[in-house]
Amino acid sequence: MKVLLIEDDPSIAGAIVDALEAVSWSVTPARSGHDGLELLARGGWDVVLLDLGLPDLDGTDVTRVARQTTNTPIIVISARGDEADRVLALELGADDYLVKPFGMRELLARIRAVHRRFSVAAEPSEESTLTVGQLQVDVRQRRAFLEGTELTLTPKEFDVLAYLAADPDTAHRRETILQDVWDMNWYGSTKTLDAHVASVRKKLGNPDWIQAVRGVGFRLHEPQ
Ligand code: CA
Repeated sequence: MKVLLIEDDPSIAGAIVDALEAVSWSVTPARSGHDGLELLARGGWDVVLLDLGLPDLDGTDVTRVARQTTNTPIIVISARGDEADRVLALELGADDYLVKPFGMRELLARIRAVHRRFSVAAEPSEESTLTVGQLQVDVRQRRAFLEGTELTLTPKEFDVLAYLAADPDTAHRRETILQDVWDMNWYGSTKTLDAHVASVRKKLGNPDWIQAVRGVGFRLHEPQ
């Protein structure tokens, strides 16, 4: 496992480096947002651990910039535990959020879980393209096309769309979508899901693609 650690606090960074090296993972520390982004751009990382309170950039800005170019899983590690901070980080494309102080065993478990999900998503499969009318979702390449034109989706928007496209015309429960796309660790509000659905609808150019099913959740359906 190759981990990029973007954290300015030397004592926290030191403890994390020790814990990760103890299980023979490779960890590269960066002390600022800019250093972190530069290292991230070089590629080859399995997971990024990202502090929000950095000296130059806020971690949320690092996430936003990182998500323009990479799908590498990002776990936010922050003393900021407010729901608003968590929702913002996850909406910007972070994959998990761990509030300081946390135990190293929990950190290792979260890294493994995020990495496992990412690897499964990246695995080639025979049925890698889901087709719903004029919409095509290539799960292996993580690209979606509407009438042949590629949609520009954030990783989580893609996950939501792929989830719904895997079983179109079926009403999917909000809780189930949240659990599948954001993992069981995320007990946040469904506002995050609503925001992603709204954004995917906009990108699909017709709100009828994703229908809200009252009291249940959402259904993907080609508009007539
Ligand atoms: Ca900090």
